[in-house]
Amino acid sequence: MKNNFVKVSAALTAFLMIFAGTSCGKVDQKNDEKKIISSGTEEPTKDGSSDPSETSYQADSADETTGSTEKQTETVPGTTDKKGYTASGSDKPVSGQPSGTVPNGSSGNGSSGSSSQITDISLTFYDVTLTVGSSKMPIVTMLPADAPNKGEIWTSSDESVAIVDAYGNITGVGKGSCTVTVASSANPDVKAKVNVKVEDAPEVPVADGVTYIDGVLIANKTYSLPASYNPGGLTGECSAAFQQLVNGAAADNINIYLSSGFRSYDYQAQIYNNYVAIDGQANADTYSARPGHSEHQTGLAIDCNIIDDSFTGTPEAIWLENHCHEYGFIIRYPKSKEGITGYKYEPWHIRYIGVEKAKAVHDSGLCLEEYLGITSQYNY
Ligand SMILES: [Zn+2]
Repeated sequence: MKNNFVKVSAALTAFLMIFAGTSCGKVDQKNDEKKIISSGTEEPTKDGSSDPSETSYQADSADETTGSTEKQTETVPGTTDKKGYTASGSDKPVSGQPSGTVPNGSSGNGSSGSSSQITDISLTFYDVTLTVGSSKMPIVTMLPADAPNKGEIWTSSDESVAIVDAYGNITGVGKGSCTVTVASSANPDVKAKVNVKVEDAPEVPVADGVTYIDGVLIANKTYSLPASYNPGGLTGECSAAFQQLVNGAAADNINIYLSSGFRSYDYQAQIYNNYVAIDGQANADTYSARPGHSEHQTGLAIDCNIIDDSFTGTPEAIWLENHCHEYGFIIRYPKSKEGITGYKYEPWHIRYIGVEKAKAVHDSGLCLEEYLGITSQYNY
């Protein structure tokens, strides 16, 4: 799988390099479309494409494993939290659990023998920002995989901020921060935590179906662009800034080139529908942006160089991370922000927001959603 993935990506990258080399940073949409569509048709993997979400499928598990391992050590703090957990667990008997998930209710700390078998809990995200009324649910993995009792007990440290149901679906209630904890019902010492931040639903100025927040054009899983939004290519400002970035990198002996720029609504629809046909919508949604939700439709996003995980950690990726804000770009989907941006780490995908804002976002250490106080999740 992985080899195949690398091969396909390498072929695509080679093609893209040629393409980028002749286009001087200006995207020829027709070329772009032909290329990506053909790669999608020839090889029915999700990896040939260059969309943020689309390239990520194969690598997801690896990334998430890494993420969970890091987090795991800090989220299983041993005995300190046990009391808090026990108290809230018994104060508030959980109701309506799916059968088999929490077999013995709140008092069921063990049907004896198997009770200590769960040793680890990992989640697909550990930080989440919600607006009041919106929900999000991490996927839970309890280890070892053959443990007989994988019951989960979910609790919220502050139900005036966020509530959580027996399945782990977290819903924002009021502005603030709290922690949602899942513990093994068989071994309550083993737990994992999600830091939850809840914000008021922002008042968002929308003109002609286009969303600007704090002057920044938004295209993510919450906010879409209408089909008619079509700048026809990268905007002039973005192209000029990218050329400066390329020159600045070259002065440091770093070769940055454009691999994918503007993509139209219709093109994104073709890509997405193709994946849905192959893989079903639920799967497609994990790696391919729905039409209108791809940032490439803004004409302000660029995928640089190698569009897959092999780009991570290269001198070019490190240079981008350290310098792209000087030219008005941000790394749009930073590491460890998957639960907030809705996309895994993509060191190759940069977004133009202007020098002043890019510096501010970079210095804040926040991703764009956090910086602007917005969410990125589908609501349909
Ligand atoms: Zn991208």
